Amino acid sequence: MEFGVSDEQKAFRRTVREYCQKYVAPRSREIDEKEAGIPEDLIKGLADIGVFGCTIPEKYGGSEPPGEAMQYANIATHEIARTELSMSLPVYTLLTIGWGGQFLKYFAKEEVKETVLPKLASGEWFWGINVTEPQGGSDVAANKTVATRKGNKLVINGEKAYISGVTESRTRGGGHCTLVVTDRSKGIKGGMTMLALIPNELNGISPTLYKEMGRMGLSSGGFAYSDTEVPDKYILGEEGRGFYHCMEGFNAARALVVSACLGAAEKCLEMSADYVKQRTAFGRPIGQNQGISFQIAEDYTRLEMLKLLLQKGCWMIDQYYSHPGSITRQEINVVISQCKWLAPHLATEIVHHAIMWHGAFGYTRECGLEMALRGLMSYVAGAEGATNIMKIIVVRDVFGKEMLAT
Ligand SMILES: Cc1cc2nc3c(=O)[nH]c(=O)nc-3n(C[C@H](O)[C@H](O)[C@H](O)COP(=O)(O)OP(=O)(O)OC[C@H]3O[C@@H](n4cnc5c(N)ncnc54)[C@H](O)[C@@H]3O)c2cc1C
Repeated sequence: MEFGVSDEQKAFRRTVREYCQKYVAPRSREIDEKEAGIPEDLIKGLADIGVFGCTIPEKYGGSEPPGEAMQYANIATHEIARTELSMSLPVYTLLTIGWGGQFLKYFAKEEVKETVLPKLASGEWFWGINVTEPQGGSDVAANKTVATRKGNKLVINGEKAYISGVTESRTRGGGHCTLVVTDRSKGIKGGMTMLALIPNELNGISPTLYKEMGRMGLSSGGFAYSDTEVPDKYILGEEGRGFYHCMEGFNAARALVVSACLGAAEKCLEMSADYVKQRTAFGRPIGQNQGISFQIAEDYTRLEMLKLLLQKGCWMIDQYYSHPGSITRQEINVVISQCKWLAPHLATEIVHHAIMWHGAFGYTRECGLEMALRGLMSYVAGAEGATNIMKIIVVRDVFGKEMLAT
């Protein structure tokens, strides 16, 4: 692998950073305060500079740099998270470019790609993931939402919970990739199927909404399905192999979750360095105390190390698709799961430190650090996969199944 970043990648980062500093940063608080209220003009603006098209091939209206989609998606998500600390817009974006562009382009049928991908690249539609059920999210194999065949349709019954973007998919348009059980007797090995979406206009769909502690700008809720008939054309990949397809999608989405955590943490660290250089106590800037400056050095080091591991993970995913056979999914699982268990904890720890260095000002809404803490906690709580589950994947794929509880 090469560690160098190409001139094109640097230029893309500059473009996204400049856009976000100018247009997104001033509206972070507004986004956090308005439920499901990410401003339309920001989504359009990000689409115009190629953010929503970065994982979508040109033939579907996107601007994907062949073989580098995930590296560009990492850059875009990181930069947005630096300026939108509530995490609403970063999560909206990473879901749409991860589960929408990146996942659908490999698994959706041509007819679906032709309809959906141009609308994602232009920023018109939102896309998300619909896997978790009320009885639990970690044990996906125990999912109960069932799909029964009726001619050329699948009839869905069941319930999904804790789903991001419920309102967005219904008001803006779009959908959620959805995992259903098609043959309970076969379990994950042949009994689960992924759907590109369950279209909003179908009968028997009842959405619900929750109130969360952070990232207010992005809605969260669930869907109950009662005899909802989904046409076959929405089946992703191979019927019965949905669990494996889904895990492949999770690797990309989790990588981008890590980008968001790192972007927000990097910004909080920079804000802190600026603050401790000008805030004085006992006759000198507080940053001159090694109790503070060494902690900043340690946080910066851990952040840079994780950035490198993530860069490797994104590169590996790009290689997996552009050079089939060069890298295995298991190798990707290990790197991405390492990043995903560590990033939310490191990022929230850095925000804790940042609040401490800012003293009482850090506890005010004016400072903005509390938005980052509330937003990042979504990933500590488990969004896109709980911490312990990530560790289980690392143990299983590095050290062997003998180390898992039976
Ligand atoms: C803000 C937010 C947004 C989300 N958005 C989506 C979304 O868009 N789509 C979607 O499908 N889901 C979404 N989720 C759900 C998320 O995927 C789940 O929270 C996650 O999979 C964990 O499931 P759970 O919350 O039911 O926890 P549980 O599975 O009940 O686990 C609870 C705790 O037990 C631990 N645990 C479980 N099993 C083990 C074990 N074997 N060993 C050790 N520890 C274990 C877990 O690590 C966790 O800490 C979201 C969650 C949050 C918080």
